[in-house]
Amino acid sequence: MTTSAELFELASRHIPGGVNSPVRAFKGLHRPPVFMERAQGAYLFDVEGNRYVDYVGSWGPMITGHADPDVLAAVRARLDHGLSFGTPTAIETTMADLICEMIPSIEMVRMTSSGTEATMSAIRLARGFTGRDKIVKFEGNYHGHSDSLLVKAGSGALTHGVPNSPGVPASLAEHTITLSFNDPEGVEQCFSELGDEIACIIVEPVAGNMNCIPPQADFLETLRRVCNEHGSVLIFDEVMTGFRVAMGGAQAHYAVTPDLTCLGKIVGGGMPVGAFGGKRKIMEQISPLGPVYQAGTLSGNPLAMAAGITLLTKLQVPGFHASLTQRVETLCQGLQERADAAEIPMLTQHAGGMFGVFFTAQSRVDNFAQATACDPEAFRRFFGAMLDQGVYLAPSAFEAGFMSSAHTAEDIQLTLDAAEKAFSLM
Ligand code: PMP
Repeated sequence: MTTSAELFELASRHIPGGVNSPVRAFKGLHRPPVFMERAQGAYLFDVEGNRYVDYVGSWGPMITGHADPDVLAAVRARLDHGLSFGTPTAIETTMADLICEMIPSIEMVRMTSSGTEATMSAIRLARGFTGRDKIVKFEGNYHGHSDSLLVKAGSGALTHGVPNSPGVPASLAEHTITLSFNDPEGVEQCFSELGDEIACIIVEPVAGNMNCIPPQADFLETLRRVCNEHGSVLIFDEVMTGFRVAMGGAQAHYAVTPDLTCLGKIVGGGMPVGAFGGKRKIMEQISPLGPVYQAGTLSGNPLAMAAGITLLTKLQVPGFHASLTQRVETLCQGLQERADAAEIPMLTQHAGGMFGVFFTAQSRVDNFAQATACDPEAFRRFFGAMLDQGVYLAPSAFEAGFMSSAHTAEDIQLTLDAAEKAFSLM
């Protein structure tokens, strides 16, 4: 039998860090990543034959569980027609119509092959539409790895960005203003000084890339208002929250309507897909209708469309999101009770089908500073003890957890039993 440790060593010879996306590498966790062989429903199975209850769900797409038979059948049915044509196909219209129906703020939509492309293109579109260069993002929000968005926070509401990755030109990063999440006053102040130079605000309406941080009352409303007042474009990055926090995304859940929305993950059913869309008068600026260039050899790939359409259609079953949310609440409540009993300082936060576990004595976590003040060593021990008991959590304290409709009451109970033991070992 080949072990994960052996495969990781082999992988590391020709793949940087042995992984094709950094967060997979179990950095700082003092163990090699687990190499998976297959997945079914709520479970991952590793190359050594171990089963895990999975709360990563391929980082979000697998909302009905892994290897959903309907999604697989839809892909199989298209397979023999060919993989890609580089021409329009009717199934792309089916997808566009479905997205516009499920998220009414989207009047026109363009498909991409990743979330990164969706956010990068939405930013270019907002800049092209407004004729302005500056953009606002929030500390600890992640929008993929395009240059303008890979900018770390400075302190203070008006701090101009500096690159947080070598290779991002400072001359580009200086157009990115980074503000604190859940700080409406900071946003107001920034717009009162610079509002008429700001092309757009991009935000994760529920932050899922610094653990799970829902928006406080008024935060999203303030973003909407300042954008209206200053003619800036409001972009919701719903790559993670879309179809997960509610059927219509976080914008439906919190009743705040953006101008543009970015999608990914669930929209592709596990295939490489992203999308961005919104107000017709903005989207009409995109090539070939308008001058803002955006393209993709494999964009709207028919197999990927088949997977995504099938998954989105399955979510329309009445009560789907209510039942997903209920599972998240059962899990979070059970974890809290067990942590409290073991006197481990811990709190959970959740929104719809996503949740987060914070090792902290704080009563809530609302921003990057508070999220990064949590105990990394406690997380490391908890993660390791859960993994050893067959529960696969995100291998980072700064990622949200994802529930699927395939997680049964027994799976959740198994998770809670494992947590009880993990807490007792901490
Ligand atoms: N936006 C958000 C909110 C994300 O969570 C991610 C990925 N986790 C992205 C954008 C980038 O998507 P991708 O990894 O598909 O490029």
